[in-house]
Amino acid sequence: MTILDGKKISNDIKNEIKADVDKMKAKGEKVPHLAAIIVGKDGASLTYVNSKVKACERVGFESSLHKLPNTVSELELLAKIEELNQNDDIDGFIVQLPLPPQIDTQRVLNAVDPDKDVDGFHPTNFGKMALDMTSFIPATPFGILELLERYDIPTKGKHTVVIGRSYIVGRPMSILMGRSGFPGNSTVTLTHEFTKNITQITSQADIIIIAVGIPDFLKTEMIKDDAVIIDVGITRVPDENAEKGYVIKGDVDFDQVSKRASYITPVPGGVGPMTVSMLLKNTLLAREMHRRKANL
Ligand code: NAP
Repeated sequence: MTILDGKKISNDIKNEIKADVDKMKAKGEKVPHLAAIIVGKDGASLTYVNSKVKACERVGFESSLHKLPNTVSELELLAKIEELNQNDDIDGFIVQLPLPPQIDTQRVLNAVDPDKDVDGFHPTNFGKMALDMTSFIPATPFGILELLERYDIPTKGKHTVVIGRSYIVGRPMSILMGRSGFPGNSTVTLTHEFTKNITQITSQADIIIIAVGIPDFLKTEMIKDDAVIIDVGITRVPDENAEKGYVIKGDVDFDQVSKRASYITPVPGGVGPMTVSMLLKNTLLAREMHRRKANL
C-alpha cells in the first residue's frame, strides 16, 4: 500500500510555482495577485483563507484579503465583487464559502468575472470543463487529478466511483474522470444520498473518490482488494484530549481500509494541502492569460 503524500506533492508544486514567479520577477514582470473575500468570522473559513494568504507569500504572489461583516447585504457583496472584477492588478479572486443565509451563493458566484474565477465555480468555467475546453478546474478536483498523475496511477478503462455530488468536488470529479486523456478515460459512477446498495457499487470500484463529510463512512468491507482510495472529507470531531479541542477526520476508516487499498490519501495530509496549491496554480494560469491578452 502506498500513501499518496499530498503534503509533499503540494510542496513540490509550490516550489515549481515559486521558481516561475522568481523568473517573472527577474524579467521585471508583474507577479500574480490572488484576492480573497471573506464574509463573517467562521473559524474554519478564517483558517482556510489565512492558509491561502500564507501560501501566496510562500510562492511570492501578491495577495489581498477583503473582509466583510456577517450582516453584509447581497448588493454590497456584489459591489465588492464588481470592484475586484474591474481591478486590473488582481489576476484572480475567490469568495470563501459558506456565505450567510441572506445571500444567494449562486448569484454571487455568477457575478465573478470568469477570467478571474480561479475557484472554477462560474458556469462558464464549469461548462468549458465539461466540454474539454481550457478552463479553471475547481481546486480540489484539480488537486486529485494532479495526485493521480504524479503517482502515475492508471485510470484508463478503470471503474471510478465518486461518492458525493457537490458542485465543488463530487460533480466536477465525475466529469473529469470520464474525460478523454490522462487522468481520465474512466467509467464513472456518481453516487449520492439516494443511491441504493452503495456497497455493491463501491465493492466493484477500482478507484473511489469520496466527499461526503461523514467520518469513517467508507469501511473496509465496502472496497475490493487493491482499490485506490481518495478521501476528500474534512470533519472537525470534538476531542477533549486534543490540543485544539477537536481532531480532523476524513470520510474513510483509514486504519482498516488502508490494509486493503493499493493507494490511499491520509487525512490530514492528502487532498487538503493539494487544494491550496492548485488554487495557486490557477492564479498563475490566470496571470499568464491576462499577460497574453494585454499583449494582443
Ligand atoms: P457537501 O456539499 O457537504 O455534500 C455532501 C455530499 O455527500 C452530497 O452530495 C450528499 O448527497 C452526499 N451524501 C451524503 N450522505 C450520503 C450517503 N449516505 N451516501 C452517499 N452520498 C451521501 O459536499 P462537499 O462540499 O463536497 O464536502 C464533502 C466533504 O469534503 C466535507 O467534509 C468537506 O469539508 C470536505 N472538503 C474538503 C476539501 C479539501 O480541500 N480537502 C474541499 C472541499 C470539501 P446528496 O447530494 O444526495 O445530498
